[in-house]
Amino acid sequence: MTQTRSRRLSVVVPCFNEEQGLAQLHATLLEVLPAVADDFEVLLVDDGSSDGTLAEMRRISALSPRFRYIALSRNFGKEAAMLAGLSEASGHAVAIMDADLQHPPQLLGAMLARLDEGHDQVVARRTRDGDGRARTLVSRLYYRLINKMVEVDLKDGVGDFRVLSHRAVRALLSLGEYNRFSKGLFSWIGFDTAIVDYDNVQRAHGSSKWSFGALLNYGIDGVVSFNNRPLRIAIYLGAMVTALAFLYAGYVALDVIFTGVDAPGYATLMVGIAGLGGIQLLFLGVIGEYLGRIYYETKRRPHFLVKEASEPQPPALTVLG
Ligand code: UDP
Ligand code: MG
Repeated sequence: MTQTRSRRLSVVVPCFNEEQGLAQLHATLLEVLPAVADDFEVLLVDDGSSDGTLAEMRRISALSPRFRYIALSRNFGKEAAMLAGLSEASGHAVAIMDADLQHPPQLLGAMLARLDEGHDQVVARRTRDGDGRARTLVSRLYYRLINKMVEVDLKDGVGDFRVLSHRAVRALLSLGEYNRFSKGLFSWIGFDTAIVDYDNVQRAHGSSKWSFGALLNYGIDGVVSFNNRPLRIAIYLGAMVTALAFLYAGYVALDVIFTGVDAPGYATLMVGIAGLGGIQLLFLGVIGEYLGRIYYETKRRPHFLVKEASEPQPPALTVLG
């Protein structure tokens, strides 16, 4: 544990409309961080909030210079906000946590201790108590399905609350892709990973930014970001349907030869057309999804744009706060 104390810890906090919660976050971090690291900085990233989040950040940063902030020019999404924070983080260890205190900062001590054992990533895994039944069930199913589909290992209950070593952060920053599905990226970079469990905490202020639609899109991202298996499925399914069509053609030919032309068949026809049309549209969508990604990747646009940031902090101050 003595090693922990000589480290500089950076805490990256993506914030989108978190005006109400920031004061409490500030107070809690000021209480917790000096006990777990000798030197620390907090990077508050304003992800284009439309409320007074940025004003709160300016206020907090003026009060405690160890709290720095970066304001993005608009809402780029949590992934981009995290990336913005990571690219500014100067610590030997970097923690990522939500602004709503759903990621209890009190856990950081235990997480840093695991990092000192030689792990490069320490992830916090929450139990799902307090989540709606339906959401829990859907999440479970989703992770079971996704782990079958993608090559990287994704765990249920593991979110973005984690502590990374400096080299893990460098590895993450070296992945330049535009579509960032960070759950997958964290897993893709590898390194030794340790898990620390904690109990689910409800949001202190405001409400979750995840609607059902957003979760669904996130789910599709997870499947498509990491491999081309959905395209494989299209090939197999296509082959299967073609084989069935040939078999059916043989059957119809024999039927005509032996029993003559038989007019009815409207239902078969409709089912065939509708079914095949559906499958074709579905996989056209899948292909389009990949094509769209290629399109965005080739633009090589930056992941985020900064509109305002606090002054860089002088290195290694001796006074905390
Ligand atoms: N967040 C962000 N940009 C967004 C959406 C969310 O930076 O476009 C931040 C948000 O402020 C919070 C964290 O990401 O700190 C997690 O968001 P939320 O609490 O809404 O998600 P949940 O905890 O419900 O998964
Ligand atoms: Mg939350």
